[in-house]
Amino acid sequence: MEALLNPITATKEDDGYSLITDKGSYDLTASDVEVVTSGNRRIPAHSGVLASASPVLMNIMKKPVRRYRGCGGSKRVIKISGVPCDAVSVFISFLYSSSLTEDDMELYGIHLLALSHVYMVTDLKQRCSKGVVQRLTVENVVDVLQLGRLCDAPDVCLRSMRLIQSKFKTVEQTEGWKFLQEHDPFLELDILQFIDDAESRKKRRRRHRKEQNLYMQLSEAMECIEHICTQGCTLVGPSNVVDNKKSTAVEKSTAVEKSMPCKAFSTCYGLQLLIRHFAVCKRRSNEKGCLRCKRMLQLLRLHSSICDQPESCCVPLCRQYKIRGEKDKKMGEDTKWKLLVRRVVSAKAISSLCQSKKNKCEGEAQGLIRLREKFDL
Ligand SMILES: [Zn+2]
Ligand SMILES: [Zn+2]
Ligand SMILES: [Zn+2]
Repeated sequence: MEALLNPITATKEDDGYSLITDKGSYDLTASDVEVVTSGNRRIPAHSGVLASASPVLMNIMKKPVRRYRGCGGSKRVIKISGVPCDAVSVFISFLYSSSLTEDDMELYGIHLLALSHVYMVTDLKQRCSKGVVQRLTVENVVDVLQLGRLCDAPDVCLRSMRLIQSKFKTVEQTEGWKFLQEHDPFLELDILQFIDDAESRKKRRRRHRKEQNLYMQLSEAMECIEHICTQGCTLVGPSNVVDNKKSTAVEKSTAVEKSMPCKAFSTCYGLQLLIRHFAVCKRRSNEKGCLRCKRMLQLLRLHSSICDQPESCCVPLCRQYKIRGEKDKKMGEDTKWKLLVRRVVSAKAISSLCQSKKNKCEGEAQGLIRLREKFDL
């Protein structure tokens, strides 16, 4: 008998699609199931194979055999409709061999995703989710998203949403989008909501980066204040080398000659100008006074909040601010100021880490910033 020799070759006068099986033993037994497609193709199969691959099919196998008109014998008939005949053939073939070609994925990926969901074939569903996502285009993305939701495939949904978000102007022009607007206003709303959320996430990230920059600048300014005040105000050759804390005004010039220019040159230069101004400004102590002096005082106060060696520190007002800070602490400190100090301290820690491992600097700082974002330090 032909069926015995080659029991899982599709009958019917179709393209002769044959199921390749590596489950050799099934070649020897006759098929006991017939899968019928919407195009009325009949694919012989084995209940044992189908049942072991799909819990849904297993349940079907447990039910008594129902005979269809025109289907003689005791074969069980399973109808799989709503997808192309070839997609069903590929599906059944997968249940036997667990293999799927790229061509099959290309042609029937979305149908196979639907079938794998309905018949609960987990490994096929995973592969189809991946395959479908890889083949996302602005043309098919709306359909795929709808399918992804029906099939409960979160990855497919997320990736589709992202594509729609990034190419919204183009997607809006597609037939799929127009159809969706007419037939699924709730999904349309979901998509618009997703786009809106993504935009605000982007804005938040941008704002955070901006703030981060500010803290980095402040931390840089803190380092510069320290070395400027330690080595003296050296407008001509700013230096970041604090090699001699006791250097006096006389020794200053030689220290400058030995040292390299400060890496934060523009910050350093600005600060030195500010310090010079502060030293001579007549409106310095005036309450309504000079904005530049006010800023200088804030920077000095910030330094004092960070400084851990006020006893030997050369920065002006460091100890005074420390003493005042202690008093403020007892009275309950300004929380905004505390937050600022904390952030500058951690920016400082990050930048010093960068200096010690300059090569890996960028990656690490990014990592640290991400870490800090995560723990909201
Ligand atoms: Zn400097
Ligand atoms: Zn001033
Ligand atoms: Zn200090």
